[in-house]
Amino acid sequence: MLNKMLINGELVSGEGAAIDVFNPSTGDKICDIQEASAAQVSAAVDAAEAAFDSWSQTAPAERSALLLQLADKIEAMGEDFAELESLDVGKPYSAALEDEVPAIADVYRFFAGACRTMNGSAAGEYLEGYTSMIRRDPVGVVASIAPWNYPMMMAAWKLAPALAAGNTVVLKPSEITPLTTLKFAEILKEIFPAGVVNIVFGTGSEVGAPLTSNPKVRMVSLTGSIPTGQKIVGCGAETMKRTHMELGGKAPVVVFDDADIDEVVEGIRAFGYYNAGQDCTAACRIYAQQGIYDELVKKLTEAVSSIKFGTQKEDGVEMGPLVSQAQQQKVAAMVDRARALPHITVTAGGNIPDMPGFFYEPTLIAGAKQDDEIVQKEVFGPVVSVTQFETEEQGLAWANDSDYGLASSVWTADTGRAMRMSARLQYGCTWVNTHFMLTTEMPHGGMKMSGYGKDMSMYGLEDYTTIRHVMIKH
Ligand code: NAD
Repeated sequence: MLNKMLINGELVSGEGAAIDVFNPSTGDKICDIQEASAAQVSAAVDAAEAAFDSWSQTAPAERSALLLQLADKIEAMGEDFAELESLDVGKPYSAALEDEVPAIADVYRFFAGACRTMNGSAAGEYLEGYTSMIRRDPVGVVASIAPWNYPMMMAAWKLAPALAAGNTVVLKPSEITPLTTLKFAEILKEIFPAGVVNIVFGTGSEVGAPLTSNPKVRMVSLTGSIPTGQKIVGCGAETMKRTHMELGGKAPVVVFDDADIDEVVEGIRAFGYYNAGQDCTAACRIYAQQGIYDELVKKLTEAVSSIKFGTQKEDGVEMGPLVSQAQQQKVAAMVDRARALPHITVTAGGNIPDMPGFFYEPTLIAGAKQDDEIVQKEVFGPVVSVTQFETEEQGLAWANDSDYGLASSVWTADTGRAMRMSARLQYGCTWVNTHFMLTTEMPHGGMKMSGYGKDMSMYGLEDYTTIRHVMIKH
């Protein structure tokens, strides 16, 4: 049974309270796992601190080789990981196996190469008689906190750049979906020296808070919600920790009259509902220009109604349940509050289906207005709203009128307009005539309340290093 954490190279059971883990497709309990005690959290940080001296001095090629081994192992065990991830999060097995496992292996491979090719300013004599050079060195012990929507992918986004850069890590998966990370601990133990990577399990309050406020932790990386980010940044102030925050999103999708409507429909059907909409870049906030609005709502309604939802291995399943009953209730309550407004029509879905598990129907909400909660607040479920706009200026202003700043897309046949909009959208990413596509070479991260710091890409690697100046007197 998967109930062991990894502390200082040993697989150990938690000594704290037991937490139930559920299969979201049935609502059945899978197992319970004891969380780390306060002493175990401290021991994990101590182990990471002790391992830092030697790990930070390894050659990039040496770290790279271990990350490549890890990638090979993930691929070799791809079916086991996909099985566990889909069981724990409820997502279709095929999505975990075909979309996630290859992308996760690729993240480790990318950073294995990237750490061998860091670049920066030229060394030189900027003062007569002195040579200056720049170093990029690891930060120290990094505490990484992952969310429940893509547990193993988020672990990869955090572990790969941190380890590649020469840091040591204590990673905490979400208490809701820990299974793949605990399985992963078994492989990490075989590949990395004791203490370089540690995995602790538990809730935010009992394990996450003591971990991220430990004075020996020099950097905290979180993918999670805004309130959790605020708490971590607040606590980190006392010991001046570096923080890396990937928080929520509410992606605007601005569709102009000249867009290819069938591509828009296909895109939103796929990217608004992938992972049951539990995705911080989900195409969830549609702005449709006046001339295309009616036709778009009609076609989207048909398309969304055709999404097949079901259990992990059902034939043709495209969408799974929400991760928990709490998430299901939250989504249902938001849709109910939207439906109560006189200008809103729920044109597809809008209900908890009569079946076991934490499902919610793929839902389309037409007629939403800019100030509505459904337009302003993150749902994190299979719910997409459509709002009508008139001019380019209005579309842009409404798209930017959000606390969030993670991802956005523009759909138009006019290249000039696509460029104008991309230049002015206040989001970490803007896609044109597509949405959601990620690649390991390119950065992913937010602006505004969506946070700061980049995952993936060379920028991600740089975030886990500190710039130092070394000056030599001749
Ligand atoms: P959450 O903030 O509730 O939990 C995230 C993690 O933080 C969990 O592991 C949790 O145990 C931990 N945590 C909670 N309180 C803590 C504390 N005080 N100290 C330390 N750790 C604490 O978020 P969630 O519900 O797991 O995930 C969903 C959220 O994550 C959404 O808002 C979503 O948009 C966001 N998200 C963002 C990205 C991104 O890349 N920007 C990706 C995925 C999810």
